[in-house]
This record gives sequence, C-alpha cells and structure tokens, in this order.
Amino acid sequence: MAKRDYYEVLGISRSASQDEIKKAYRKLALRYHPDKNPDNSKEAEEKFKEVSEAYKVLSDSEKRQIYDQYGHAGLEAEVGAGPGFGGFEFDPLKIFEEVFGRQSFGGDLFGDFFGGRSRTRAGDAEPGRDLHYTLGISFEEAAFGAERNIQIPRRETCSTCTGSGIKPGSQPQTCPTCQGNGYVAISQGFFSMTRTCTQCRGRGTIIKDPCRDCRGTGRVKRTRKVKVKIPAGVDHGSRLRLAGEGEAGFRGGPSGDLYIGLRVKSHSIFKRDGNNIVCEVPISFSQAALGAEIKVPTLNGRVRVKIPPGTQTNKIFRLKGQGVPYLRSSGRGDQWVKVVIETPVNLTGEQKELLMKFQELSRDSEQPRIREFIGKIKQILGG
Ligand SMILES: [Zn+2]
Ligand SMILES: [Zn+2]
Repeated sequence: MAKRDYYEVLGISRSASQDEIKKAYRKLALRYHPDKNPDNSKEAEEKFKEVSEAYKVLSDSEKRQIYDQYGHAGLEAEVGAGPGFGGFEFDPLKIFEEVFGRQSFGGDLFGDFFGGRSRTRAGDAEPGRDLHYTLGISFEEAAFGAERNIQIPRRETCSTCTGSGIKPGSQPQTCPTCQGNGYVAISQGFFSMTRTCTQCRGRGTIIKDPCRDCRGTGRVKRTRKVKVKIPAGVDHGSRLRLAGEGEAGFRGGPSGDLYIGLRVKSHSIFKRDGNNIVCEVPISFSQAALGAEIKVPTLNGRVRVKIPPGTQTNKIFRLKGQGVPYLRSSGRGDQWVKVVIETPVNLTGEQKELLMKFQELSRDSEQPRIREFIGKIKQILGG
C-alpha cells in the first residue's frame, strides 16, 4: 500500500510551522489512540501509527528537508545508511508520551492506561486522615492555659498485625495474577500496555489469611484519651494542632493530625477584646460625685481603683498588665474598667426630701453637660 503524503496525513500545508505540526499531531493522536477506540482498534491503530510517523518526520527539520526534496523514497534510502533515521522502527507510544508528557494521562485521558507506571501505585503508603474536634474551655483557661484530657474515637494501627493486615505467623503471598509486579501487560496489536493488577490492586501481594482483629485493613477503631495542652492567651476560635494524633496511615503511611477548635465560654463579668479584658463596674451617683475607692475584680483577684470626684458615666480606667497574656510573646494586655453610674431607685421619703433640697441648691456650673445642652436648644429653637 502506498504511503500517504505526510502533510496530508496531518492535514496541514507544506509551509506549516513546527507549532502547527505539533498541534495537528496532538489533535489526531488523541483521536486515534487505540485506547480510545476499543471498538475499531485495528483501524485506529493504523491511523495512529500513520500520524505518529508523519509527526516524527516533519517535526525533525533534517528529515523534513529530505522528505520535502525526495519524498518517501528519500527517507527509505536512508535505511542502513549510517547513523540517523534507521527506518521506521519507532514506538508511537513513546512519541505520544514525549509530546503529551507522562503526567498528563494519570487517569483523565485514558483511565488506567499507564496505570502501573505513571500513577501512584496502589501499594504505596497512604497518610491517615486529619481529625477535628471542638473543645469548650472557660474564660480563665483561655487566659492562663490549661491541660485537658479528651476522648477521641479514631482508627489506629492494629497492634495484632502491626498494620500489615496479615494474620500473625502467616505471610503475604505473591500475587498469582501479576507475579508480584503490581501491574499486568496487555498486548493489543503492536502495543504493549500495562494496567494495575486488579487482584492485588497494585500491591504485588495478596493476603490469604487476614488479621482477625482488623479484618485485614491494618487499622482498628479505638477511643483514645489525648492530653491537650492549651497555651495561655488562646481565644474563641483558636485552633490547636496535635501532630500525628489523627488517624493512623495505611501501610506504614504517617498518621494524620488532630485539630482542636476552641470555644471559650462567656464570663459573667469579663469580656475579651483581643488581649484586653473589659468589665463594667456600676457605681452610685454619690460615689461618682464625691469620689471613692472601689474594688474591681481582675483575673488575679481584686484591685483597688480610685474614682476621682466628678467622674462621669462610661469613664474607662485602665489597669495596665491585668489582661490576657500574649500567645506569642511575653507580657499581657490591660484590663479596662468602665464605670457606669446607677441612678438610685426605691427612694425613701427622707432621701427624696434630701434630693429635692439638693436640686434646689444646684447651680448650672455643677452640671456642665446639661448647661451646654440647654444652650444648644436655645440656639436652634430660640427662647
Ligand atoms: Zn490487624
Ligand atoms: Zn497482582
């Protein structure tokens, strides 16, 4: 059968650039790859070979020149004529791999086509899964740190078989299907392809007597007590990572990690603002007017705070270094004490009388905010 013109095979012009040649090849190689044409593989195989040959010649500038000048005969004349071409004993699959790269067909393009070679072998070690756990802690535990024991259900390496999945005393057997290779060769025309062995799933060995405790999986479910060290200064939403405390890996793979999300319970007095602690302290109106010394709770016990005479409501006093320790450096935040003036309720007759008398004696200068406010109203409304 006469060979078709290489340019015709690739569907390109004689002046096609290297880019165009490659592009045409890629398109046709994908279309005629025998693995994509299981129903008419013989025909596709021929096409695939033809396309590969055309590409092989035209992508090589030296061969292309010979071909352009002398046609097929020119190339055939080269056979046995020293180094160089050596006929058409080439491997279309090898060209295919060179152009597409091995990684690109890890399973998308041709499924398991190059399974045994290009994909992760099923027999390889696999890391264990990470586990996630939520832990509620108190305000004080977040501030000062703590140590807690928690119960984690997880899969651990089976101690009976040390993770092999094989009954103690018995040996894994070489897989009879693949003779231990993990893959099997399949001949299809001139192609020799490999597929991952289905019997051993690529491991090369099979287990005849599985371990009873783990039923051959190599792992067992256990509820394990794990000690959690909570560092001082963590906050609501902080996450701790306990390396290697997740699920055990497969076949010697590393264990996953255990992540612990912290939920800090709210406190009856304190609120967190980063590393600062905020608390509101109610004082009486006479304490605010006359001045006083009040006792304020902190994480380290009570502290005396001086309220100067004439203190207004919502005034904030800062207690330096009475906050939450910094997680990643030394030192601590502050505590902010916000005083709130409480208006007295349920007054006795005598108290009312005294207050009325107090009101009569009051002058504008004692209540600068009221005076200022009345001034503004007059400006707007007149009078
Ligand atoms: Zn076991
Ligand atoms: Zn096998």
